[in-house]
Amino acid sequence: MTAARVVVVGSFNVDHVWTVAALPRPGETLSGQYHTGPGGKGFNQATAAVRAGAATTFVCALGEDLGGQLARALATADGLDLREHSSQAPTGTAGIYVDHDGRNSIVIGPGANADLPVDFVQSQRDVIHGAHVLLAQLESPLASIETAFAIAREGGVRTMLNPAPADARVPASLLALSDVITPNESEFCAQLERHVGERVDASIVATQGDDTLHAWCRRLLPHGTVVVTLGAAGCFVSHAENALHRDAQTHYRVPGAKVQPQDTTGAGDAFNGALAASWALRPEAAFADHLHYANRYAALSTESAGAAASMPREVDVRKRFS
Ligand code: AMP
Repeated sequence: MTAARVVVVGSFNVDHVWTVAALPRPGETLSGQYHTGPGGKGFNQATAAVRAGAATTFVCALGEDLGGQLARALATADGLDLREHSSQAPTGTAGIYVDHDGRNSIVIGPGANADLPVDFVQSQRDVIHGAHVLLAQLESPLASIETAFAIAREGGVRTMLNPAPADARVPASLLALSDVITPNESEFCAQLERHVGERVDASIVATQGDDTLHAWCRRLLPHGTVVVTLGAAGCFVSHAENALHRDAQTHYRVPGAKVQPQDTTGAGDAFNGALAASWALRPEAAFADHLHYANRYAALSTESAGAAASMPREVDVRKRFS
């Protein structure tokens, strides 16, 4: 592991997952196959970044309960530098039903994740300033994320915002502090409508011409880079003329890697963690190389089950795609 450091600010959840024949209706009691495991977008992305080979710090809030103990044990096992605010609230949880057609219903109990204080983030100023890339999502309080991004900006640290989930409100002030944003198709449409007033159906994003996509991205983040993830199709990238990147072209697609997907839960998180790690480890490389790596890393994560548990290790990525 090198000294290149990624700092992830975000959520940790204990996922409780039931696989059922059909999603439960009101008043109905069903039995299903149950499993539990670690999740939360922040923790998934931090796990991906550290397993992709970057020294990684995870800034989060945990409860004083079994969920918090699980997070600490997993962080130790992966060599993740955990900076936790200890909350009176329970550790975050998610209850997930998945039917045999792959449809799901999810209830999230944010618990401690909603309780990550601004002053705790401020206390991490030195670790943020020591990072190459700061990465966050929107399952933590916006004021705390924005504080982390302002600290990163002041220290010249690159900022990556994964604007997920799609229904989260992203203030323009947070976009202004983001060097790169990484929405999937529905998150891209949600932010396009909110910030640009352009209504686009998520199902038609991937089939748009590249020039149309680039024009939308330029209106959404005029100063920076937008990476729209496109599931099995990979991703589309659009850079501002003066963005922080090393690329010959302003916009292009990077096709997804061919795999046999078993479970795409956490694929977007795998992509974000791997992109941040690759960018931190090889700042001189073309941005296209980082996207190519992130696609391969995320594709491989779909071949095993679970969220954080499905994040591959660098050596497995190399072996699989050599
Ligand atoms: P998504 O959030 O669905 O856009 O997926 C995020 C990233 O995961 C994509 O940009 C791909 O790199 C990867 N990915 C997701 N689904 C697949 C798949 N079925 N096959 C290969 N790669 C995938």
